[in-house]
Amino acid sequence: MTKKTYKSIADSINQWVRPEIRALQAYHVPPATDCIKLDAMENPYQWPEAMVDEWVGLVKDVELNRYPDPSASLLKDRLRNSMSVPEGADILLGNGSDELIQMLLMALTGKNKTVLSVAPSFVMYDMVATYTGMNYISVPLNDDFSLDAAAFLAAIEQHTPAIIFIAYPNNPTGNLFKRTDLQKIIDAAPGVIVIDEAYHAFADDSFMDEAGQVNNLLVMRTVSKMGLAGLRLGLLAGKAEWLNEFDKVRLPYNLNVLTQATAQFALQHQSVLDAQTETICKNRELLFNALSEIEGLQVYPSQANFILFRTRKGEASAIFNKLKEAGVLIKNLSPTGGALGDCLRVTVGMPEENTAFIKALKAAI
Ligand code: PMP
Repeated sequence: MTKKTYKSIADSINQWVRPEIRALQAYHVPPATDCIKLDAMENPYQWPEAMVDEWVGLVKDVELNRYPDPSASLLKDRLRNSMSVPEGADILLGNGSDELIQMLLMALTGKNKTVLSVAPSFVMYDMVATYTGMNYISVPLNDDFSLDAAAFLAAIEQHTPAIIFIAYPNNPTGNLFKRTDLQKIIDAAPGVIVIDEAYHAFADDSFMDEAGQVNNLLVMRTVSKMGLAGLRLGLLAGKAEWLNEFDKVRLPYNLNVLTQATAQFALQHQSVLDAQTETICKNRELLFNALSEIEGLQVYPSQANFILFRTRKGEASAIFNKLKEAGVLIKNLSPTGGALGDCLRVTVGMPEENTAFIKALKAAI
């Protein structure tokens, strides 16, 4: 009997894994134990003790032996109310808005299908376009990170995108683009346009009123930045006809029983979440002022719960590493290069965390 010869794992991987996946780096989340964690745009606040006790009482009765409600109808009602989703709009829920991006692109992908966004913006648009085999095109923002509307409209004309993503406010720059420019882009979009309002809680403007009114407009939200990042829950609002198509690629039980029960509970205590958001906005102003006073930094105004700033040329990575050694983790965007060269991004934390960050930053510069 001849002995079967096995290929090496490397050869098998080369044979079977798609080349564009082999070329990717997995999305890296740095370990963050025993440090001041200001890297991931989380809300730093806990719930009051009485609220935690009430929640523990509720979770006790959740039936873990049962599959979750596949339509999450009670949660949808609660979210419609809490996020002011208009009557004419339907709702689709995802395991975080990351999953909604994935569902959208799974449904839209095909030969020569294009995703259009701006650069820099949220990295998942590009990554999921790659996972799903779509072309990803991004239009560079202006030097001040405003939108180049003429270039964007020309890119729509040139590439006929199946889908456009605009983060409003944008991540990682923190700004809102001009509403009138976005209105023109919505009008010109040949396919779907998603206004991603992940940071809506901290911003002055929203397109939610237009969800369900404008045929091709979908408004995306998440509860992650409202203090519920651990739950993984995102929302898409828009015309039922579109959402029914995207619902077909949703795995039936994408929102687990604990997420559904906890989100409903948390949204019944919206005032607690709103008060935390308001505090974060006040802390953002203090942090912005403190950063602006440091010589050698260019600080960008933010409508989100983070602030982007630029260091002197070639200094960002060294500053980032010194902060890390001092126990403060922020996000180093400098390796991305291009418009983000020398840029660092800090999430607004609690006042004592922000103070510790500013102190460590002054020492690092
Ligand atoms: N959109 C934007 C613009 C984001 O910055 C993020 C998270 N950083 C998301 C969507 C994803 O949010 P989640 O999956 O936590 O709902």
